[in-house]
Amino acid sequence: MCFPFLREVLLPLRPNVMIEPARGVEVTGYKQNSMQKPGANKRMNRRDFLGVAGLAVTGGSITCLGSVLGYLSLRYITDQTNASDTTPSGSESQVTLVKRINRPPITTRAQWGARAPNHAALNEAGFYNTDNVEGWRIYDADLREVYRTVVVHHAALYEGDDPGTMRAIQNKHMDDRKWADIGYHYGVGRTGQVFAGRDLNVRGTHVETYNTGSVGVVLFGDFEKETPTAEQIAATRQLIDWLALRLDLTHLAGHRDFNDFTVCPGANLYPYLPSFAESAGLELGTGGYVPPPEQLTPNPSPES
Ligand SMILES: [Zn+2]
Repeated sequence: MCFPFLREVLLPLRPNVMIEPARGVEVTGYKQNSMQKPGANKRMNRRDFLGVAGLAVTGGSITCLGSVLGYLSLRYITDQTNASDTTPSGSESQVTLVKRINRPPITTRAQWGARAPNHAALNEAGFYNTDNVEGWRIYDADLREVYRTVVVHHAALYEGDDPGTMRAIQNKHMDDRKWADIGYHYGVGRTGQVFAGRDLNVRGTHVETYNTGSVGVVLFGDFEKETPTAEQIAATRQLIDWLALRLDLTHLAGHRDFNDFTVCPGANLYPYLPSFAESAGLELGTGGYVPPPEQLTPNPSPES
């Protein structure tokens, strides 16, 4: 049952993407490993992915690893290619260029005790439409068409532990800055715990003027004074690898690259940004910022 279903959803799939989360099905993506081959530091493109996926189907190599969370495993392709080596000479085998990217474990809003968004907030009042362009904007397009850049931040604070810090950031954004919700889409704690922030379907509030189409990731701490932990860096890398693949991102930037009035993400985190970008196959900097087309229809109010 699982196998034909996966085939059905896979084939029309555009690559690099988690699909149909509401149906509990997720495809684990792969990308070319930039460490293997100079000049190959791009994520596997759509054609590459479909080619590999097609090969997997042909070879019967799809495995269903779970009925609730289904993963598409291309691992066997690697084995196959190794074993039979039918790759024409002169063309790199897929084996050395493929890197597996797993979705990191993410603490849900309910689990960390998030407050519900406040749509009467002073500085993010009401819902986006052409008369209220600063309002709560729910993207109605495919998120892969919406997002281009991941923007890295530091929280500039730490409140006792990781979940407490996530709550403190949300309180600061809602109570002090009068936004409808926490501004970032993801938080990464000192222990490496990853938190879901603002819904990814909603425009963030984290990089002034450039929020539309930018996914916001915040690391807990003040990295003008402190240094990020090894666990935090590793978790951030995995999160960004996964976001880049899932959202078909092109660029990674630090907050201060867009907004020169801030030092965010701090002097001790900023040097890690090139390695995050390289790992995820992203260009470094603000060059990818292209706001998605304006919506013509106002957002509907969420039911709850
Ligand atoms: Zn920032």
